[in-house]
Amino acid sequence: MKPVTFKSMRLHRPGEPLVLEERTVNEIPAGQVLLKVLACGVCRTDLHVVDGELPDPRLPIVPGHEIVGEVVACGSGVDLTPGTRLGVPWLGYTCGECSFCTHGQENLCDRAQFTGYQRDGGYSEYALADARYCFELPDTLDAAHAAPLLCAGLIGYRSWRFVSDAQRLGIYGFGAAAHIVAQIARWKGQDVYAFTRPGDVTAQEFAKSLGARWAGDSDQLPPEELDGAIIFAPVGALVPLALQALRKGGTLVCGGIHMSDIPAMPYSLLWGERTIRSVANLTRRDGTEFLAIAGEIPVRTEIQTFPLTDANTALSRLRDGQLTGAAVLIPQP
Ligand SMILES: [Zn+2]
Ligand SMILES: [Zn+2]
Repeated sequence: MKPVTFKSMRLHRPGEPLVLEERTVNEIPAGQVLLKVLACGVCRTDLHVVDGELPDPRLPIVPGHEIVGEVVACGSGVDLTPGTRLGVPWLGYTCGECSFCTHGQENLCDRAQFTGYQRDGGYSEYALADARYCFELPDTLDAAHAAPLLCAGLIGYRSWRFVSDAQRLGIYGFGAAAHIVAQIARWKGQDVYAFTRPGDVTAQEFAKSLGARWAGDSDQLPPEELDGAIIFAPVGALVPLALQALRKGGTLVCGGIHMSDIPAMPYSLLWGERTIRSVANLTRRDGTEFLAIAGEIPVRTEIQTFPLTDANTALSRLRDGQLTGAAVLIPQP
């Protein structure tokens, strides 16, 4: 193939801004696909990587694991038509052999590699991906609006699965994942109770516009007891607050990859068969199921677009809580 030269935003050291760099792909490895990036979402996990809150990223690394791209060329063993639109998620590779992989838990594979963490991601004009971990996307959304489905949507969906039978569902942290999960919950007939940073009226109004029955501050108790709750905000102090809002037998799901320490709390908050669990990564099955549902509902996403070269600005807006919905980078506006 003819070498492809393109620009990427790359992290050299956690805590430093990303650097705009030119890179070249001379050859596509077997099993991989070269995509022209149409859009790449900015996820809180990217922020954890950039800020050094996740251990041992491969450096330098191109962040970004909510990639919507168009097939340009394929490595050997891959037969995809150029121009096909694909999504690349966080789960970029698994070993396929360990007891997790062979028991439907490839999300827990010890040898897994994650996009934008151990494999170069989508803050780039072009990206390589292992074709086995790419998804076809519903036609209901353009590239920019589809990007947040690939992590916010997917991890949101995996989190939601564990509380899908809750009639009253609490969601703590009303950002990119929550605004997608709220739509799935409404579609399933659940009542959504949205909790935001205290005083964040904009996010509370946003939640109500998506059909939330109640929206308030995260340190408030809801008007009714909840049957289940999901915490998307990376704030451990929310765990005892959410448990307090939960009925006996209720489940609390922690949907983030990183969380500040959970404060000590009285056992009585957990007593009564309440459950706390985390959700890690995704399986390809989650992806296929979720993207079918997202197309059927159809899920709408609220986004703010930025040129690729403004990736550092998009990250700092996310860090400062200045986004409504999800930030999406567009390499070639
Ligand atoms: Zn494995
Ligand atoms: Zn993510």
